[in-house]
Amino acid sequence: MQNIDARLPQRRSLQSPAPGPASQALDARRADNCARALQPGLPAYIVDGGGGILVDADGNSFIDFASGIGVTTVGSSNAAVTEAIIEAAQRFTHTCFLNAPYEGFVAVSEKLNQITPGDHAKKTALFSTGAEAIENAVKIARNFTGRNRVVVFDAAFHGRTNLTMAMTSKNKPYKAGFGTLASDIYRVPGSYPLRDGLSGEDAARRTIRTIEQQVGTEDLACVVIEPVQGEGGFVVPAPGFLPALQRWCRDNDVLFVTDEIQAGIARTGQWFASCDEDLTPDLITTAKGLAGGMPLSAVTGRADVMDAPGPGSLGGTYAGNPLACAASLAALEEIDRLNLTSRAREIETIIREELSALDGHPTVAEVRGRGAMIGIEFLNSDGEPCAELTSRIAGACKKAGVIVLTCGSDGNVIRLLPPLVINEDVLRDGLSVLVDAIQTA
Ligand SMILES: *Cc1c(COP(=O)(O)O)cnc(C)c1O
Repeated sequence: MQNIDARLPQRRSLQSPAPGPASQALDARRADNCARALQPGLPAYIVDGGGGILVDADGNSFIDFASGIGVTTVGSSNAAVTEAIIEAAQRFTHTCFLNAPYEGFVAVSEKLNQITPGDHAKKTALFSTGAEAIENAVKIARNFTGRNRVVVFDAAFHGRTNLTMAMTSKNKPYKAGFGTLASDIYRVPGSYPLRDGLSGEDAARRTIRTIEQQVGTEDLACVVIEPVQGEGGFVVPAPGFLPALQRWCRDNDVLFVTDEIQAGIARTGQWFASCDEDLTPDLITTAKGLAGGMPLSAVTGRADVMDAPGPGSLGGTYAGNPLACAASLAALEEIDRLNLTSRAREIETIIREELSALDGHPTVAEVRGRGAMIGIEFLNSDGEPCAELTSRIAGACKKAGVIVLTCGSDGNVIRLLPPLVINEDVLRDGLSVLVDAIQTA
């Protein structure tokens, strides 16, 4: 894998055990002033970043295997993105597209219509957050079909707003104590090969039977699914599951919506995870990797569906902010220029090669995922999820200067989401720390 130039030295180095004094002082201010719910996973405060590295207030350099949850795909200070933001900010920071339009909004929409799967006529609506994109995809699907019901899946994650909280599977910490959930959301089993042992076709049969028995099609607006699950554990459905589900949706006039907020935008080695099985979703939601770290999200899909809601019925004050659009155009261009889709596949090869040191390890149940979206699931000898072990491993990595995140309904999956611009020696160094942490845990 070829090295990509970065502004910062690309090397892990700990000056002092993190958190050092500067981070500790900042964390004391956080504890006094920020709501308790907003609990950072890393005890160190970041002051700089770029390539595969984040630098903290005490001068420690961490290897970044999180990318701010799959956001900084082109790096956290990509020069082209930064320049685009500065250039846009020097002209205007905001107008609200609905009041006074600007080109960037249109250009990002054009680009998404172009790169999303399928050569049918498409349109796009821009928003700010992932949850907002999901909320709007559901609004659009309900408006187009005149139906209310929404099917979602076991272990799904779609956000934390009221509607998306209902669509998200995990009770704690996302739903418990947060009041009445939105109605007309139906959860069905998906495909989780490690746990259900079903082929894609059999899993789809089970899913479809459940939908037909419990939800029906007369009132069903859409099925919303992550083509590779994010927060739910980096679960990759068995081959054939998603195409069978899409086919059933088509046959029953139910909209097939893929949530590509985490898996999309080059992460899995193609522009979209939906590309791998030639899916052509009716609607696709994007966010995280879309704008180089700026808040931007989108719903892209069939023009007839997208055009169902009338003028003025979708939008938001900040939706498609001009700086975020400028950043997005630059980030998407960087993905092309640096050929980051194929780099994601090279990253996968290196990750699998380094993690092969764990072959036969008693608690490593599976290494799975695609491209630069790889998860490691930990089960004990009774097949029970090891959440405590998993968080201990993540903790040991952070202590050694490597930022990794956990996920999974049972909290027993380590997820790797490095920036796609990470260099090979940094990647290998971080992986060796992870392998050590797993072997000693
Ligand atoms: C992160 C995420 C969301 C929610 O995005 P926010 O920007 O946090 O609202 C929705 N779906 C998936 C698959 C995600 O990973």
